[in-house]
Amino acid sequence: MSHEGIRILPDDVARKAPGAEKEFSREAIDPQHVRVNQTDGTGVEIVWKDGHTSHWTFAWLRAACPCATCVEEREAEGRAPGEQKPEPKTALPIFKPAVRPNKVNPVGRYAISFDWNDGHTSGIYSWHYLRSVCNCDACHANFSEAPGGPPATA
Ligand SMILES: [Zn+2]
Ligand SMILES: [Zn+2]
Repeated sequence: MSHEGIRILPDDVARKAPGAEKEFSREAIDPQHVRVNQTDGTGVEIVWKDGHTSHWTFAWLRAACPCATCVEEREAEGRAPGEQKPEPKTALPIFKPAVRPNKVNPVGRYAISFDWNDGHTSGIYSWHYLRSVCNCDACHANFSEAPGGPPATA
């Protein structure tokens, strides 16, 4: 944390991260305020510099883990980021403690990572990723242009 101000990257180099699916303004992926409600377990809230507010539960974030293993697993199972795994069918319900992080770690100035209470630690949640999976109604409306209902027959 001692090299503040030394990193000078031209904008177009810094912004062209491979795999960046969505274009956001600089303010849209720069958090003004990050609140991790670790104690009460309600999740993470970010107020972005463009005035937008995002909120995710810990369970959602765990199920949206961006590490390679979790991405592969979701793709194999056809789950969207944040979509919970289907409950295994067992005779007795297994007690599962609520998902929450034991620890939250800043990753440079561009991301955070969580030490989840299930032992998983490899996901790095970049601001860009988090903004692109914003859970609010307005962003959801943008994801799915087609409103629910059966597709019109041609
Ligand atoms: Zn993961
Ligand atoms: Zn949103």
